[in-house]
Amino acid sequence: MGFPAINRHRQLFLIDMNPYSDIEAHLLTHCTVCPRGCGANRFTGKLGYCRSDAGFNVSSVCVHKGEEPVISGKKGICNVFFPHCNLQCVYCQNYDISCNQIESAWQTYTLPGLVDRICQVLEHTENMVGFVSPSHYVPQMMAIIREIRQRGLTPVFVYNTNGYDKAETLQMLEEYIDVYLTDFKYLYSSLAQQCSKAANYPEVASEAFREMFRQKGSTLRLGDDGLALSGIIVRHLVLPGNVDNSIEVLKYLAEEFSSRLHISLMAQYYPTQHVSGHPKLGRTIAAEEYEQVVDAFHSFGFFRGWVQELSSQASYRPDFLAPKPFDD
Ligand code: SF4
Repeated sequence: MGFPAINRHRQLFLIDMNPYSDIEAHLLTHCTVCPRGCGANRFTGKLGYCRSDAGFNVSSVCVHKGEEPVISGKKGICNVFFPHCNLQCVYCQNYDISCNQIESAWQTYTLPGLVDRICQVLEHTENMVGFVSPSHYVPQMMAIIREIRQRGLTPVFVYNTNGYDKAETLQMLEEYIDVYLTDFKYLYSSLAQQCSKAANYPEVASEAFREMFRQKGSTLRLGDDGLALSGIIVRHLVLPGNVDNSIEVLKYLAEEFSSRLHISLMAQYYPTQHVSGHPKLGRTIAAEEYEQVVDAFHSFGFFRGWVQELSSQASYRPDFLAPKPFDD
Protein backbone atom coordinates (compact mmCIF):
# COMPACT_ATOMS: atom_id res chain seq x y z
CA MET A 1 0.00 0.00 0.00
CA GLY A 2 1.10 3.60 -0.45
CA PHE A 3 2.16 5.63 2.57
CA PRO A 4 0.51 8.83 3.78
CA ALA A 5 2.62 11.90 3.06
CA ILE A 6 3.86 12.34 6.63
CA ASN A 7 5.21 8.80 6.73
CA ARG A 8 6.83 9.22 3.35
CA HIS A 9 8.87 12.14 4.68
CA ARG A 10 9.88 10.16 7.71
CA GLN A 11 10.90 7.34 5.42
CA LEU A 12 13.23 9.52 3.43
CA PHE A 13 15.51 9.69 6.47
CA LEU A 14 15.79 5.92 6.28
CA ILE A 15 17.17 5.99 2.77
CA ASP A 16 20.92 5.87 2.95
CA MET A 17 23.44 5.74 0.18
CA ASN A 18 25.04 2.48 1.29
CA PRO A 19 23.38 0.17 -1.23
CA TYR A 20 24.50 2.38 -4.08
CA SER A 21 27.75 2.65 -5.98
CA ASP A 22 29.20 6.15 -6.31
CA ILE A 23 27.81 6.57 -9.81
CA GLU A 24 24.34 5.38 -8.79
CA ALA A 25 24.27 7.72 -5.78
CA HIS A 26 25.44 10.56 -8.00
CA LEU A 27 22.70 9.83 -10.54
CA LEU A 28 20.05 9.85 -7.83
CA THR A 29 21.38 13.04 -6.29
CA HIS A 30 21.10 14.95 -9.55
CA CYS A 31 18.79 12.68 -11.45
CA THR A 32 19.49 12.15 -15.11
CA VAL A 33 18.65 8.45 -15.00
CA CYS A 34 16.07 8.73 -17.77
CA PRO A 35 15.56 11.01 -20.78
CA ARG A 36 13.41 13.46 -18.80
CA GLY A 37 16.64 14.70 -17.18
CA CYS A 38 14.92 16.50 -14.28
CA GLY A 39 18.03 16.95 -12.14
CA ALA A 40 16.00 16.12 -9.01
CA ASN A 41 17.72 15.14 -5.79
CA ARG A 42 15.88 11.91 -5.06
CA PHE A 43 17.33 11.66 -1.55
CA THR A 44 15.21 14.67 -0.61
CA GLY A 45 11.47 15.31 -0.88
CA LYS A 46 11.98 17.29 -4.10
CA LEU A 47 11.06 14.78 -6.74
CA GLY A 48 11.13 14.87 -10.50
CA TYR A 49 8.68 14.00 -13.24
CA CYS A 50 8.40 10.36 -12.13
CA ARG A 51 7.64 11.33 -8.49
CA SER A 52 10.05 8.60 -7.37
CA ASP A 53 12.58 8.94 -4.58
CA ALA A 54 15.73 6.95 -3.92
CA GLY A 55 14.02 4.18 -1.97
CA PHE A 56 13.47 0.56 -2.88
CA ASN A 57 9.81 1.02 -3.77
CA VAL A 58 7.81 -1.69 -5.50
CA SER A 59 4.15 -2.18 -6.29
CA SER A 60 4.31 -5.93 -6.53
CA VAL A 61 6.72 -8.84 -6.58
CA CYS A 62 4.84 -11.76 -8.04
CA VAL A 63 4.87 -14.71 -10.39
CA HIS A 64 3.67 -13.74 -13.84
CA LYS A 65 2.82 -16.38 -16.41
CA GLY A 66 1.54 -14.06 -19.11
CA GLU A 67 4.78 -12.90 -20.73
CA GLU A 68 6.08 -14.35 -23.99
CA PRO A 69 6.57 -18.15 -23.79
CA VAL A 70 10.39 -17.89 -23.77
CA ILE A 71 10.13 -15.62 -20.73
CA SER A 72 7.33 -17.17 -18.73
CA GLY A 73 7.86 -20.83 -19.57
CA LYS A 74 5.54 -23.08 -17.58
CA LYS A 75 6.19 -21.75 -14.11
CA GLY A 76 6.34 -18.03 -14.85
CA ILE A 77 8.78 -15.21 -14.15
CA CYS A 78 9.34 -13.34 -10.89
CA ASN A 79 8.27 -9.84 -11.89
CA VAL A 80 9.23 -6.81 -9.85
CA PHE A 81 6.79 -4.00 -10.66
CA PHE A 82 8.15 -0.55 -9.91
CA PRO A 83 5.61 2.18 -9.15
CA HIS A 84 5.14 5.28 -11.31
CA CYS A 85 6.59 5.71 -14.78
CA ASN A 86 8.63 8.15 -16.83
CA LEU A 87 6.14 8.13 -19.73
CA GLN A 88 2.56 8.54 -18.43
CA CYS A 89 0.70 7.18 -21.46
CA VAL A 90 -2.93 8.31 -21.40
CA TYR A 91 -4.08 4.79 -22.22
CA CYS A 92 -1.78 3.05 -19.71
CA GLN A 93 -2.89 -0.51 -19.09
CA ASN A 94 -1.22 -0.54 -15.65
CA TYR A 95 -2.61 2.83 -14.55
CA ASP A 96 -3.14 1.80 -10.92
CA ILE A 97 0.58 1.56 -10.30
CA SER A 98 2.05 3.72 -13.05
CA CYS A 99 0.27 7.04 -12.70
CA ASN A 100 2.51 9.68 -11.11
CA GLN A 101 -0.39 11.84 -9.96
CA ILE A 102 -2.21 9.42 -7.70
CA GLU A 103 -1.14 7.76 -4.47
CA SER A 104 -0.75 4.38 -6.09
CA ALA A 105 -0.22 1.04 -4.44
CA TRP A 106 3.40 0.43 -3.48
CA GLN A 107 5.64 -0.43 -0.59
CA THR A 108 9.12 0.62 0.46
CA TYR A 109 11.61 -2.08 1.42
CA THR A 110 15.16 -2.18 2.61
CA LEU A 111 17.43 -3.68 -0.03
CA PRO A 112 17.92 -6.98 1.89
CA GLY A 113 14.19 -7.13 2.64
CA LEU A 114 13.28 -6.68 -1.01
CA VAL A 115 15.81 -9.26 -2.14
CA ASP A 116 14.45 -11.70 0.48
CA ARG A 117 11.01 -11.24 -1.08
CA ILE A 118 12.32 -11.64 -4.65
CA CYS A 119 14.20 -14.81 -3.68
CA GLN A 120 11.05 -16.28 -2.11
CA VAL A 121 9.06 -15.72 -5.29
CA LEU A 122 11.93 -16.74 -7.55
CA GLU A 123 11.88 -20.26 -6.11
CA HIS A 124 8.51 -20.83 -7.78
CA THR A 125 9.49 -19.56 -11.24
CA GLU A 126 11.66 -20.45 -14.22
CA ASN A 127 14.65 -18.76 -12.53
CA MET A 128 14.02 -15.43 -14.19
CA VAL A 129 13.61 -12.00 -12.63
CA GLY A 130 11.84 -9.32 -14.65
CA PHE A 131 12.00 -5.63 -13.79
CA VAL A 132 8.84 -3.95 -15.07
CA SER A 133 8.95 -0.19 -15.81
CA PRO A 134 12.56 0.05 -14.64
CA SER A 135 13.66 3.14 -16.62
CA HIS A 136 13.34 5.51 -13.64
CA TYR A 137 14.57 2.90 -11.14
CA VAL A 138 17.82 1.79 -12.77
CA PRO A 139 20.09 2.57 -9.77
CA GLN A 140 17.82 0.58 -7.44
CA MET A 141 17.62 -2.24 -9.99
CA MET A 142 21.42 -2.46 -10.27
CA ALA A 143 21.76 -2.66 -6.48
CA ILE A 144 19.09 -5.40 -6.38
CA ILE A 145 20.88 -7.44 -9.05
CA ARG A 146 24.21 -7.16 -7.22
CA GLU A 147 22.58 -8.29 -3.98
CA ILE A 148 20.92 -11.28 -5.66
CA ARG A 149 24.22 -12.31 -7.22
CA GLN A 150 26.04 -11.87 -3.92
CA ARG A 151 23.67 -14.47 -2.51
CA GLY A 152 24.95 -16.94 -5.10
CA LEU A 153 21.86 -16.88 -7.33
CA THR A 154 22.13 -16.59 -11.09
CA PRO A 155 18.68 -15.97 -12.56
CA VAL A 156 18.22 -14.50 -16.01
CA PHE A 157 17.54 -10.78 -15.59
CA VAL A 158 14.94 -9.21 -17.88
CA TYR A 159 14.61 -5.46 -18.42
CA ASN A 160 10.93 -4.95 -19.28
CA THR A 161 10.77 -1.36 -20.49
CA ASN A 162 8.58 1.15 -22.30
CA GLY A 163 11.60 1.94 -24.50
CA TYR A 164 11.91 5.53 -23.26
CA ASP A 165 15.40 4.94 -21.91
CA LYS A 166 18.55 6.95 -21.98
CA ALA A 167 21.25 5.23 -24.05
CA GLU A 168 24.01 6.24 -21.57
CA THR A 169 22.03 4.65 -18.72
CA LEU A 170 21.64 1.44 -20.71
CA GLN A 171 25.41 1.36 -21.24
CA MET A 172 25.75 0.77 -17.49
CA LEU A 173 23.58 -2.34 -17.79
CA GLU A 174 25.75 -4.40 -20.11
CA GLU A 175 26.95 -6.69 -17.30
CA TYR A 176 23.60 -6.66 -15.50
CA ILE A 177 20.84 -7.38 -17.99
CA ASP A 178 20.45 -10.60 -19.96
CA VAL A 179 17.28 -9.91 -21.92
CA TYR A 180 15.87 -6.58 -23.06
CA LEU A 181 12.11 -6.91 -23.35
CA THR A 182 11.43 -3.52 -24.81
CA ASP A 183 8.48 -1.66 -26.23
CA PHE A 184 8.91 0.34 -29.39
CA LYS A 185 5.75 2.42 -29.26
CA TYR A 186 5.93 5.30 -31.70
CA LEU A 187 7.70 6.60 -34.74
CA TYR A 188 5.38 9.59 -35.00
CA SER A 189 6.43 12.43 -32.76
CA SER A 190 2.94 13.94 -32.68
CA LEU A 191 1.43 10.66 -31.50
CA ALA A 192 4.13 10.29 -28.85
CA GLN A 193 3.38 13.78 -27.59
CA GLN A 194 -0.36 13.30 -27.67
CA CYS A 195 -0.33 9.92 -25.92
CA SER A 196 2.74 10.09 -23.68
CA LYS A 197 3.86 13.74 -23.46
CA ALA A 198 7.14 12.68 -25.05
CA ALA A 199 7.52 14.21 -28.50
CA ASN A 200 11.10 12.98 -28.61
CA TYR A 201 10.13 9.34 -28.03
CA PRO A 202 11.06 8.31 -31.61
CA GLU A 203 14.63 9.66 -31.32
CA VAL A 204 15.12 8.58 -27.72
CA ALA A 205 13.78 5.07 -28.27
CA SER A 206 15.86 4.72 -31.44
CA GLU A 207 19.07 5.62 -29.59
CA ALA A 208 18.14 3.36 -26.70
CA PHE A 209 17.40 0.51 -29.07
CA ARG A 210 20.70 1.07 -30.86
CA GLU A 211 22.46 0.55 -27.54
CA MET A 212 20.47 -2.60 -26.75
CA PHE A 213 21.27 -3.91 -30.22
CA ARG A 214 24.98 -3.12 -29.76
CA GLN A 215 24.97 -5.18 -26.59
CA LYS A 216 22.84 -8.13 -27.73
CA GLY A 217 22.57 -8.17 -31.53
CA SER A 218 19.60 -9.64 -33.34
CA THR A 219 19.71 -13.18 -31.98
CA LEU A 220 17.71 -14.23 -28.95
CA ARG A 221 19.70 -17.04 -27.33
CA LEU A 222 17.59 -19.85 -25.88
CA GLY A 223 18.55 -22.61 -23.46
CA ASP A 224 17.84 -26.32 -23.96
CA ASP A 225 14.56 -25.75 -22.13
CA GLY A 226 13.51 -23.17 -24.74
CA LEU A 227 13.73 -20.26 -22.31
CA ALA A 228 15.51 -17.02 -23.13
CA LEU A 229 19.08 -16.63 -21.93
CA SER A 230 20.16 -13.45 -23.65
CA GLY A 231 19.01 -11.05 -26.34
CA ILE A 232 16.21 -8.70 -27.28
CA ILE A 233 12.46 -9.03 -27.69
CA VAL A 234 10.67 -6.00 -29.14
CA ARG A 235 7.06 -5.47 -28.15
CA HIS A 236 4.69 -3.33 -30.08
CA LEU A 237 1.18 -2.62 -28.87
CA VAL A 238 -1.10 -1.79 -31.78
CA LEU A 239 -3.24 1.25 -30.95
CA PRO A 240 -6.70 1.76 -32.44
CA GLY A 241 -6.76 4.28 -35.26
CA ASN A 242 -2.97 4.27 -35.56
CA VAL A 243 -2.13 1.48 -37.97
CA ASP A 244 0.29 3.74 -39.90
CA ASN A 245 2.42 4.23 -36.82
CA SER A 246 2.60 0.47 -36.24
CA ILE A 247 3.64 -0.21 -39.81
CA GLU A 248 6.32 2.50 -39.66
CA VAL A 249 7.74 1.00 -36.45
CA LEU A 250 8.01 -2.45 -38.05
CA LYS A 251 9.53 -1.03 -41.22
CA TYR A 252 12.08 0.93 -39.22
CA LEU A 253 13.13 -2.07 -37.13
CA ALA A 254 13.51 -4.29 -40.21
CA GLU A 255 15.39 -1.76 -42.32
CA GLU A 256 17.58 -0.11 -39.67
CA PHE A 257 18.27 -3.19 -37.56
CA SER A 258 17.24 -6.68 -38.62
CA SER A 259 14.26 -8.76 -39.66
CA ARG A 260 15.82 -11.54 -37.56
CA LEU A 261 14.66 -9.76 -34.40
CA HIS A 262 12.06 -11.38 -32.20
CA ILE A 263 8.95 -9.22 -32.40
CA SER A 264 6.00 -9.51 -30.08
CA LEU A 265 3.00 -7.96 -31.76
CA MET A 266 0.33 -7.15 -29.23
CA ALA A 267 -3.40 -6.82 -29.78
CA GLN A 268 -4.36 -6.62 -26.11
CA TYR A 269 -5.11 -2.88 -26.05
CA TYR A 270 -8.31 -2.03 -24.23
CA PRO A 271 -9.58 1.45 -23.36
CA THR A 272 -9.26 2.16 -19.67
CA GLN A 273 -11.73 4.52 -18.02
CA HIS A 274 -9.29 7.39 -18.64
CA VAL A 275 -9.74 7.23 -22.43
CA SER A 276 -13.25 5.82 -22.60
CA GLY A 277 -14.55 8.84 -24.57
CA HIS A 278 -11.44 9.38 -26.68
CA PRO A 279 -12.21 9.57 -30.44
CA LYS A 280 -9.45 7.09 -31.36
CA LEU A 281 -8.29 5.44 -28.16
CA GLY A 282 -11.75 4.82 -26.74
CA ARG A 283 -12.16 1.41 -28.37
CA THR A 284 -10.27 -1.84 -28.93
CA ILE A 285 -8.52 -2.39 -32.26
CA ALA A 286 -10.58 -3.67 -35.15
CA ALA A 287 -9.83 -7.00 -36.81
CA GLU A 288 -9.04 -5.32 -40.14
CA GLU A 289 -6.61 -2.91 -38.46
CA TYR A 290 -4.76 -5.78 -36.84
CA GLU A 291 -4.67 -7.71 -40.12
CA GLN A 292 -2.92 -4.79 -41.81
CA VAL A 293 -0.23 -4.75 -39.14
CA VAL A 294 0.21 -8.52 -39.19
CA ASP A 295 0.54 -8.37 -43.00
CA ALA A 296 3.24 -5.72 -42.59
CA PHE A 297 5.02 -7.89 -40.02
CA HIS A 298 5.32 -10.63 -42.66
CA SER A 299 6.03 -8.35 -45.60
CA PHE A 300 9.02 -6.78 -43.81
CA GLY A 301 10.46 -10.27 -43.40
CA PHE A 302 9.98 -10.88 -39.70
CA PHE A 303 9.74 -14.57 -38.95
CA ARG A 304 10.62 -14.76 -35.27
CA GLY A 305 8.38 -13.81 -32.41
CA TRP A 306 4.73 -13.83 -31.52
CA VAL A 307 1.53 -12.43 -32.93
CA GLN A 308 -0.98 -12.11 -30.14
CA GLU A 309 -4.53 -13.23 -30.79
CA LEU A 310 -7.12 -10.50 -31.06
CA SER A 311 -9.11 -12.17 -28.29
CA SER A 312 -6.38 -11.14 -25.82
CA GLN A 313 -8.16 -7.77 -25.59
CA ALA A 314 -10.43 -9.37 -23.02
CA SER A 315 -7.77 -11.13 -20.98
CA TYR A 316 -5.24 -8.53 -19.79
CA ARG A 317 -6.82 -6.98 -16.71
CA PRO A 318 -4.29 -6.97 -13.86
CA ASP A 319 -5.51 -5.89 -10.44
CA PHE A 320 -2.55 -4.47 -8.54
CA LEU A 321 -4.68 -3.91 -5.45
CA ALA A 322 -5.17 -7.67 -5.14
CA PRO A 323 -2.59 -9.97 -3.46
CA LYS A 324 -2.12 -11.74 -6.83
CA PRO A 325 -2.43 -9.12 -9.62
CA PHE A 326 -2.64 -11.74 -12.36
CA ASP A 327 -4.84 -14.77 -12.79
CA ASP A 328 -2.93 -18.05 -12.99
S1 SF4 B 1 14.18 9.12 -13.42
FE1 SF4 B 1 12.54 10.48 -12.70
S2 SF4 B 1 13.59 12.16 -11.65
FE2 SF4 B 1 15.12 11.07 -12.88
S3 SF4 B 1 15.21 12.15 -14.82
FE3 SF4 B 1 13.71 10.52 -15.09
S4 SF4 B 1 11.70 11.37 -14.57
FE4 SF4 B 1 13.29 12.78 -13.78
